[in-house]
This record gives sequence, C-alpha cells and structure tokens, in this order.
Amino acid sequence: MQEGEKMEPASDSNLSVPLRGTERALQLLLFPSLVVQKKMEEAKEIVPPLWREVSEKEWNDWRWQLRHRITTFEQLKEIIELTLEEIEGIKHSKGRLALAVTPYFASLMDPLNPNCPIRRQAIPRIEELHLSKNDMVDPCGEDKDSPVPGLVHRYPDRVLLLVTDQCAVYCRYCTRRRLVGSHERAITEGNFEEVLKYLKSHRKVRDVLLSGGDPLLLENERLEEILSRLRAIPNIELLRIGTRAPVTLPQRITGGLVRMLKKYHPLMISIHFSHPKEITDQVRRACNDLADGGIPLGSQTVLLKGINDKPYIMKKLVQELLKIRVRPYYIYQCDLATGTEHFRTSVATGIQIIEKLRGHTTGYAVPTYVVDAPGGGGKIPVEPVCVVSRGKGKVVLRNYEGKVFEYPEPNIIEFKKMRSNGEEKVVQKKVMA
Ligand code: SF4
Repeated sequence: MQEGEKMEPASDSNLSVPLRGTERALQLLLFPSLVVQKKMEEAKEIVPPLWREVSEKEWNDWRWQLRHRITTFEQLKEIIELTLEEIEGIKHSKGRLALAVTPYFASLMDPLNPNCPIRRQAIPRIEELHLSKNDMVDPCGEDKDSPVPGLVHRYPDRVLLLVTDQCAVYCRYCTRRRLVGSHERAITEGNFEEVLKYLKSHRKVRDVLLSGGDPLLLENERLEEILSRLRAIPNIELLRIGTRAPVTLPQRITGGLVRMLKKYHPLMISIHFSHPKEITDQVRRACNDLADGGIPLGSQTVLLKGINDKPYIMKKLVQELLKIRVRPYYIYQCDLATGTEHFRTSVATGIQIIEKLRGHTTGYAVPTYVVDAPGGGGKIPVEPVCVVSRGKGKVVLRNYEGKVFEYPEPNIIEFKKMRSNGEEKVVQKKVMA
C-alpha cells in the first residue's frame, strides 16, 4: 500500500465510526477534559443492555441494523419504560403503520422520558387511533397525479419516483403511511420499465426525485441500476434522492455507496431531519462523507407539535445542520395524514418560527416554510409578512426587529435622440414616478 492511501473496509460497512456507549464511558474516565465536550453534545448513543454484547463491526453494519429492527412490544419494553399511551398505540399499530426502529435510533431514545423527541417520532401512541374529520388517506393527492404506478407527475418539469415502500424507521406522522411499511418491497421491474418509457416520452421532465419509502434502503447494485437508467435519458438533467437513512441508519452511508452515487452527478440529496438530538457523531460522519462526495445536501423537516415546534429548537437544528454541511431547505407543515392530528401545529406556529430565524441567524440556515396544499395543490410557501404597504412610488417594509423602512421605487427615466446644430444628441425626455 502506498503512503497516504486509505485502507478499504473489508465489507460495505463503515468501520471508522466513533466509540459506542461502554467504550465512550471509559474514554471519558481516562480523559476528563472530554467531559466538557460531552456535555456540549446534543445526542449520544447509549447502547441498551439488549445489544451490549453486539460487536462493533455488527453494530456498524447497516444490514445488521436492519435485520435487528425493533418491531414488537416485547422487544421495545426491553429498552424503554413504556407508558400506557404507548402500550395502547403499539397494540393497535398493526394495519395502520408498522412499528420498526433500528437499534441505532433506539439507542438515542430516553428510556424514562415519554416526551423524548426520538421516542415521540418512532413509537406509536394512542392518539394515532383518533380520526379527525380533516384526515385524508392521501393528503397530498399523489395518487390522482400518478400516470404510471410508482410515479407522481404534478409539476411541469419534475417527477417523484417511489422506488420502495421500506424505511429504516417508520415515522408516526408519515404522510405516505398509506403506502409505506406494509409489504416492504421495491418497485417492480415491470413498473420501472413503464416509468422509463413515460419519462422518455415526456421531454419536459428534467428532474427526478427518488423517494419512497427510503431509496437508500435498496442495495447499491439496485439503486445504481435505477440511477444509471435514469441518467441515460437525455432530458433528465438532475437526479435527487429524498432519504432519512443518514439520520435513522447512518451506517448505510458507506464508502461504497458514496463512490457509486458520485458517478451520477448532478445528484442532490434531501435528508429528513426533525430535531437537534438526531445529530450524533455517526450522523456527522455520514453527512460529511456524502458532502465530500460532492453531493449537495439539503434538509427537510416536518413541523411537529411537542417535538420541534419551539423556535429555539428549530434554531438549534438549522444551525447544527449548517455545521454538518446540510443546507436547511424546507420546513413542512404537517400534512393531514390519517391519525396524525396530534402532531399538527397551527400555521401561525410555523410563521412564528421563520420570524424568529430570519435576520436572527445566517440566511443559509433559514429554510422555506411550506404547506403542501391538501388534495394536491402542491407546496405553497408561507412567509411572515414583511411588506407593510405599497404606496405610490414607495414600498413600506418591516425588518426582523419590527422596525419600519421606506424603499423608494425607481423612477422611470426615458431618453430620446435629437439633432441640434447638425449634431446628434441623447437627452432626457421625462421622469415618471
Ligand atoms: S422516512 Fe419518510 S417515508 Fe419513511 S416513514 Fe418516515 S416520513 Fe414516511
């Protein structure tokens, strides 16, 4: 091996990850200065006793994580002290939205605090049984805009391609709960051929967003086949992937995956983050590797009551995201998916969060807050009102501190050519306010 050359991991797992629970505790004992650093960490894995015997190699293998997902009440009660609300929610989760949590994501849960944001997102609660009159099975009206199974074509130049219905963890507020988790299967060959045919014959489509489920749950080979066949279509300029794997299964971001993705630039990834507690050393490493692969990273966050609906939490999240080279992209108002009303905040809450971000932190950290119009109207940006009034020749604006300023609109100045003393000149004709 040449000097400076990196040793490749033996498998598709990534072994260069931080120490886990027990080893980390020993490290802190030996190096007390790290205690200060530890206090500043937002999140840490504390491997529950259930998996203490698991080797480092297994823990860092994404396939091991997937194979050992928690899917039952019996497994879950080994890890956390379940509340009655959670027990009832789990009991009735069958046939609604499957319960599945990776050991890694479970290791971030506070076993004693039912309001832990990680726990609230992944463990069913009795509130899911409440059906509101506003609930919708397909809140964004995707099915009616689906010309081919697996494909949603709503906007003129871009499409959404649902490549699998599997996710590492099922978020209890999932807008696609009608589709995800029930069969855990990928798009069929037949459907994919139909999708390709459609895209080739619709030349205005220049952007394909792979979603699901979670596209990064496909094996590299299958994902590459999909990307390469899409890339071969001349009108497809941009490929995008929407994923939550870097957050719920960061082990999935391996050297092999990044090397494969790099071949299909321009390729962008939108990562679904919900709370600063999700940004662990493992997640930092995963995002860093993707960014080093030249992949622009953006975040998507669903506004969730009791989880991230406080401006200080959202501010911490967006600032932490910039530190790991993820550009906060969207905050979504929670959709009207069946059984998710308890997660919904008012739209005013979202506006207030943007109000507390804009001007108060780096512009790059301020995402766009959108409401996906119920029934299929698409994303509608919702902004705090900064234009106080529009008068003749001026606009009255409000800044982030509430101070009011006037901006004079430009005058329209016209010039004309004229000849004087045999010479051609240009002179001002008139000024209009
Ligand atoms: S990762 Fe996305 S698709 Fe999967 S359950 Fe969560 S919200 Fe739904």
